[in-house]
Amino acid sequence: MNLFKAPRGTADILPDEQPYWRYIEGRALEICRLYGFSRISTPIFEEAGLFLRSVGEGTDIVSKEMYIFKDRSDNEMALRPEGTAPVCRAYLEHGMDNLPQPVKLFYFADIFRYERPQAGRYRQHHQFGCEAIGDQSPVLDAEIIHMALSFFESLGLTNFSLQLNSIGCKKCRPGHLQKLKEHYAPLREQLCDDCRIRLEKNPLRLLDCKKPACQSAADLAPKSADYLCPECGRHFESLKSYLAALKIKFVLNHRLVRGLDYYTKTVFEIQPADGGSQSALGGGGRYDDLIAMIGGKPVPGIGFAAGLERIVLNLKTQNIKVAPVERPAVYLACLGDDARAEAVKVSAVLRAEDIALLISSGERSLKAQLRNANTAGVRYAAIIGGDEMKAGTVMVRNMETGEQQEMRPDELVVLLKDAK
Ligand code: AMP
Repeated sequence: MNLFKAPRGTADILPDEQPYWRYIEGRALEICRLYGFSRISTPIFEEAGLFLRSVGEGTDIVSKEMYIFKDRSDNEMALRPEGTAPVCRAYLEHGMDNLPQPVKLFYFADIFRYERPQAGRYRQHHQFGCEAIGDQSPVLDAEIIHMALSFFESLGLTNFSLQLNSIGCKKCRPGHLQKLKEHYAPLREQLCDDCRIRLEKNPLRLLDCKKPACQSAADLAPKSADYLCPECGRHFESLKSYLAALKIKFVLNHRLVRGLDYYTKTVFEIQPADGGSQSALGGGGRYDDLIAMIGGKPVPGIGFAAGLERIVLNLKTQNIKVAPVERPAVYLACLGDDARAEAVKVSAVLRAEDIALLISSGERSLKAQLRNANTAGVRYAAIIGGDEMKAGTVMVRNMETGEQQEMRPDELVVLLKDAK
């Protein structure tokens, strides 16, 4: 029989990799504390309609990538393909509009998209995301961008750029879309199959197609920032002035539109210098219509999400060292059945003193047990045989020097605590 493997596009995160994840989570928690965000966790699946209405039926995420299924009661459900709509659903469901606004929430979430797997692109990936809901001021746009950049800097990452654009709102976007259609109509034949469909269904997405033929058409396309209504224009200008005050440099990228329908006004991405748009570390934007799209009264919001797998990849390529997982302090070895029972007792005494340890089942030779202790990377082994049992002691072996010393368990506690 063939052995089972993790599904295509998913990955096991093995113990050796975990220090990177703990490191990233630690920095994320610290940033959230500094910017006043509280943690929220939402279910891994939702009613599919939540995403159909917010992310949009014409988007790749919904039309091609969403894991959608009927449950046993025939309800149409979807594995979460992004984190913002569920947080907004929870905001409405729990009456958070009655709290002081903006409500600032962050999450760590597994995200599912049926994409073609490649380096840094998975079918299940992990995001750290933040949402500030209930305030339309561009001050918040600047704060979220500042927070995102500070997060990446706090990880030690360098060499990334902030790509920025404004895609307007439902008042000014139709004018821009009309100009886009006029620009693309004579170029229809040179577009890829997907873009011909986008031309009808979702013209904004023509701008971020990665196919070379479509890219040259996109480069010369009308820019959304040139068609903003007065309100969106003022919002964008204010944001840029706040970014200047924060000394944040950005690249105005008129082809940045992001793959979800709910975005309005500000959109941004953080891209590694050597990567390009396919390898973004994170991105976000304003979504002033999202909450109304899912049935609430209009409430503005802005958010940001970073991909943890991409961050791990960049930590490795930038050779950033993270603290290893703490090893157990001692390995308890024993010789014979009675000693084994004694080792079990001693293990409880040590653990009650907060000493992390491994205990051998004692079924193998002392030599084999010490080999295991060595592989586990402990500094000390404590050996219990017949003599030690009689004396109520353990034989403590320094694994580095091979020196041995007999002592009582309480003396071992002192030794291990001093060695910490
Ligand atoms: P998005 O929701 O598409 O803006 O994604 C936010 C971030 O999640 C991106 O900037 C990437 O860092 C990461 N990301 C998105 N899709 C994937 C994927 N399929 N595999 C790994 N990371 C991803």
